[in-house]
Amino acid sequence: MTIRIFESRRREVVDLEPRDQGRIAMYACGPTVYNLIHVGNARTIVWYDQVRRYFEYRGYEVTYVMNYTDVDDKIIERAKIEGIPPEGVTTKYTQAFEEDMSALGTEPASLVVRATDHIEAMVEAIQGLVDKGLAYEAEGNVWYAVEKFDGYGKLSGRSLDDMRAGDRIEPSPGKEHPLDFALWKAAKEGEPAWESPWGPGRPGWHIECSVMSTKYLGMGFDIHGGGLDLIFPHHENEIAQAEGLFGGEFVRNWLHAGLVQMESEKMSKSLGNIVLTRDVVEQYGGETARYWMLASSLRSQAVFSDDTLDDAARSLERWRTFLEAARHALGDTAPTASSSYRRPLSDPAPEGAGAEFISRFLASMDDDLNSSEAFAAIHDLVREGNRLIEGAQRGDEAERKSLAGILEVFLELTSVLNFRLDSTADDSGLVGGLVEYLLELRESARSEGAFARADEIRDRLTKLGVSIEDTPAGPRWRASGIS
Ligand SMILES: [Zn+2]
Repeated sequence: MTIRIFESRRREVVDLEPRDQGRIAMYACGPTVYNLIHVGNARTIVWYDQVRRYFEYRGYEVTYVMNYTDVDDKIIERAKIEGIPPEGVTTKYTQAFEEDMSALGTEPASLVVRATDHIEAMVEAIQGLVDKGLAYEAEGNVWYAVEKFDGYGKLSGRSLDDMRAGDRIEPSPGKEHPLDFALWKAAKEGEPAWESPWGPGRPGWHIECSVMSTKYLGMGFDIHGGGLDLIFPHHENEIAQAEGLFGGEFVRNWLHAGLVQMESEKMSKSLGNIVLTRDVVEQYGGETARYWMLASSLRSQAVFSDDTLDDAARSLERWRTFLEAARHALGDTAPTASSSYRRPLSDPAPEGAGAEFISRFLASMDDDLNSSEAFAAIHDLVREGNRLIEGAQRGDEAERKSLAGILEVFLELTSVLNFRLDSTADDSGLVGGLVEYLLELRESARSEGAFARADEIRDRLTKLGVSIEDTPAGPRWRASGIS
């Protein structure tokens, strides 16, 4: 058994052959922490976390490094707009990113690294590139000389001439080739700056990923991920920097996540076509957003629309309803979820109730992380489980046993995808919206002195299984009986 993935540089599906047996070293480009993250970028990060989860489930020991870009033009601009120092911007939006990711059921990388903690190592790497004749200084800036690196363009599959014709190129004094990119930028008045052999300044964006990934994972690590829009120039430049400096192969496998499409237009910050993760989570709940993000495979594009999100909510609802009904039918004998499921690649094929569904799930995910097929296997499993509920409720022993087996598989597969599925996980969606609305009505009734009406709203909600707790920050609610 082996996992197969589409590898961007070779442009084909390949066997995942780790550098070190049983271990996967992976790096993903994290956010530039200057704003609230939009759903496109969030989906990429959710997916790499899922890739890590799946590889661990398949028995690998995974080291996953993700970076925060916390020095960048966009951060400096944002600091001016908000009237706070750049560190204030990065602190605020790092925290916001972590909140959003946690709402999406995503765990932090094994190692989360910040560009500003690695400036010295970047200066050293840039000096190394200058010493090798791959970079040059001009007016306090240091540029990478793309013509000097054999193989520039091998990831994106473009020649320098193609790129020259196709891309917007910013001229800069002293730059030798229009595609040369900045390794070090001379400081401008009032900007954050660090000392360097070329005068005060700050690193360009690309160098941080080459330096931090190789520092923690070495050269030739297994997987480098990012959104499809990072292939050129960011990842192309990362290759030029790392291979130019150290020689040998930088990354064994490049994995690129498909972008989110808004209706028919490509979602992008520059188009201003922005849907914030935070807003999606608020409207649909984190678990529904996660379902939508993962229901299309890593590589395919995800379409953002009310329809696709509503579909995700309905699908999750089917799963929750089954879980509730199966637990109810089995009573005390219902299996509970374990915290660490493992199905190493070397294991024999699964057996017992639900085994065919596990096999389908594994085969789909092993096949280039084909999550839509994997999700379909879970839906079929649920259909099979629902068929057994009536018999199990009647006390039919054989059906009870089968249902328990199916439920066990269900708990395993949904936990690999990190769905918790308890009815309070998504305090949102339609139910959440209605509860919030009723609580607002109750608040306004109270502020008008209509206490009897306020109490009535509270009592009705309590009868429906919604418990309300009044806190100094306003009412908090939990739904216990809603399924
Ligand atoms: Zn990067």
